[in-house]
Amino acid sequence: MIAHVTLEIALRKEFDYFIPPELADQVDVGSRVQVPFGSRKVLGCVTGLAEESARAALKPILKVIGAQTLVTPKILKLARWIGEYYCCAPETALKSVLPEAVRHEQANWRERLHVRALPLNGGMPKLPARQKEVWRILEERPELPLSELLALAKTTAATVRRLEDRGLVTLAPEISERDPYAREHILPSQPLPLNPAQAKALAAIIAAMDEGAKSVAQSPKPKVQGAPEAAVQGSAFEVQGSMFDVRCSILDVQSAVPASAPPSGIQGPKFEVQGSEFPPSPRSSTFLLHGVTGSGKTEVYLQAIARALEQGKGAIVLVPEISLTPQTVERFKARFSSGPLQTLVAVLHSHLSAGERHDEWHKIRQGRARMAIGARSAIFAPVEPLGLIVVDEEHEHSYKQEEAPRYHARDVAIVRGQMEGAVVVLGSATPSLESYYNCGKGKYTLLQLPERADDKKMPVVRIVDMRQTVRPGKAVPIFSPQLKEAIARRVEQKEQVILFLNRRGYSTSLQCPLCGYVAECPNCSVSLTYHRHENKLCCHICAHVEPVPAVCPNEKCRNPAIRYSGVGTQRVEATLAKLFPHARTVRMDSDVLKRKEDYRRILGDFRVGKIDILVGTQMIAKGLHFPNVTLVGIIYADLALHQPDFRAGERTFQLLTQVAGRAGRGDIEGEVVVQAFTPFHPAIQFARRHDFESFYAQEMEFREQLKYPPVGRIALLTLKGRNEEKVKFSADYLKQELQKAMVGIKDLVQAGPAPAPLLRAETYYRYQIMLRAQRMAALSQRLAVLIRSLTLPDDVTLAVDIDPVALM
Ligand SMILES: [Zn+2]
Ligand SMILES: [Zn+2]
Repeated sequence: MIAHVTLEIALRKEFDYFIPPELADQVDVGSRVQVPFGSRKVLGCVTGLAEESARAALKPILKVIGAQTLVTPKILKLARWIGEYYCCAPETALKSVLPEAVRHEQANWRERLHVRALPLNGGMPKLPARQKEVWRILEERPELPLSELLALAKTTAATVRRLEDRGLVTLAPEISERDPYAREHILPSQPLPLNPAQAKALAAIIAAMDEGAKSVAQSPKPKVQGAPEAAVQGSAFEVQGSMFDVRCSILDVQSAVPASAPPSGIQGPKFEVQGSEFPPSPRSSTFLLHGVTGSGKTEVYLQAIARALEQGKGAIVLVPEISLTPQTVERFKARFSSGPLQTLVAVLHSHLSAGERHDEWHKIRQGRARMAIGARSAIFAPVEPLGLIVVDEEHEHSYKQEEAPRYHARDVAIVRGQMEGAVVVLGSATPSLESYYNCGKGKYTLLQLPERADDKKMPVVRIVDMRQTVRPGKAVPIFSPQLKEAIARRVEQKEQVILFLNRRGYSTSLQCPLCGYVAECPNCSVSLTYHRHENKLCCHICAHVEPVPAVCPNEKCRNPAIRYSGVGTQRVEATLAKLFPHARTVRMDSDVLKRKEDYRRILGDFRVGKIDILVGTQMIAKGLHFPNVTLVGIIYADLALHQPDFRAGERTFQLLTQVAGRAGRGDIEGEVVVQAFTPFHPAIQFARRHDFESFYAQEMEFREQLKYPPVGRIALLTLKGRNEEKVKFSADYLKQELQKAMVGIKDLVQAGPAPAPLLRAETYYRYQIMLRAQRMAALSQRLAVLIRSLTLPDDVTLAVDIDPVALM
């Protein structure tokens, strides 16, 4: 037998290896293997099996890694789709579906010595004092890890060895699972009563899940036009072993892939599933749950997950990394920690140790954990069979991976849901325009939760026109009189305040008022931020640090009165200390949170009322639920509006709505004060009225005009290199090649090349070309072909970003 293997080294193709008889029963599609390559041994993944190979004199597979196939055929199929759609090499796509800790066997199961008390035969012998103490503990806990026993008995291993010599205990290594949440005390929770809107949403989701379960059981395997029978059974791509063959865009996917038809075929690029070839599925299995902040979306998720478990299926819940607080994880663990639907809940995110990640992942692969919760990459969790995928805060840009493969976890979730017949629920208080648009097109079903779950009122939002605070010759104050007064009142009443400013550091730039000198990063085209605690100037792009000059560095100027301008969170904190010396103020941004415990500690202190005012960046914008917070202040609401990005308005609306949603979660009505220099901007005004629909309608007019997403689709090509002339030259060359490659694509608009909004980052110059088209399918296919044949100078690299979320 022959195995097709995708190697981890970047080669953009597969190689055939011979399977030695002694490994025959271990090698399967999805196995991790070690193979010879030239004089080296490299790792790879088996992507297909065959009887024979077109090549002669094949080398053998050396070793199989792991007892189980690590990549299941379904996940392999998903990886192929990612490679195709996002224009990246198959090995790059494959790498993303397995956590590093599992892929490289960096970690393994941890074995620890366990002590077990043996039954006494013929009475208790007389023991010396220390052994007696150990025995006393063993009488209460007859089996426990040696290290724990030693800590409890305050003794050494020698004492336990004596007991072993006497035949009273055994010592043996056992697998001891690492549990990152072992220290949390989790109390089981029961389903909460639902309000009518929640109940209606849940009923719709459950109906789709039941429908899916029925149709999988009843319907015969559908035929896919142009593909032989074998293809439908999901083995065709294994035979072919080349690139995957389904091309469909996220916006087209609902109609492109009929539910329960595994999209596979052996015709290679010729076999193309186009959005138009299939009628839209009669019942949409993707839902958008649009619920205002505090409307109880999580309870709907929990009860839908319970349904999946009842059906003998599993669930994946994606949350943004930033919201993966112990508070969130505990809610899910608590619900399924006992009762008939009890299951382990595995947690996957980047703050775990390699060992913890290894154990959590294997709990899912072994089927012991039927639910996975995690950030972006948890979408690849090998939950099987999969009944439900929840993507909470679906509008979050952190679902998009910023390095290859540049996939969007929400969009991958929809494709995976379609491939595996799972229901997908996207939830948000501020849906992305893409998802809302898909509801309008009938691709997703819209479910609304218009009110807060427990009859709590939405907070009152007041907008302060900061232009009124400007006094000639004086710096603009950080706090308007209105906000200052509101803070004083709330602190006085022993209530809590959250102040939001999405900019860390003390001041945003260091400027000389005489000669105009601005301290800039030597590696990036941005000004340096002054950090007062460290007394340093820092670059927020490349982390470059330099000392603060005492006088203007300009040789001819040397002005000692060099000045800081712009406000960061450190300066807000310092000003609060002066204005409210008795209030306990804590700042929370990535400068403060160096260790993973810090986040938990600060939130814990805030919860128990040890902190009066919490100042922070977007880290405090979402997911937090503190009943005693009655005032939220937004220091500078227009900050995100001035970014050179067509989504600036959408982002501002989302951020303001989310931050405002932290107020008034308890019994006292909440209040939000928004300070802005452009108070009449629609994004600010609609956020004030909690009016998503009007914001959407207004924003869509602008997107329609320019054919920006969600109306059109974008691919962003960025060329990077240290030599600006070479980058520019390569960009011009790419432009010409694109013009040839894209002939005949409908409505294609090619913009650029132009310098990126952030021209230089980490010493690299960046030039961009933006492609816009009605549909992505044909575009990304042509791009993939072009990239394979494109030759660029060695020191210039090209990054292709399909459906980018950031244009910087
Ligand atoms: Zn100067
Ligand atoms: Zn820099």
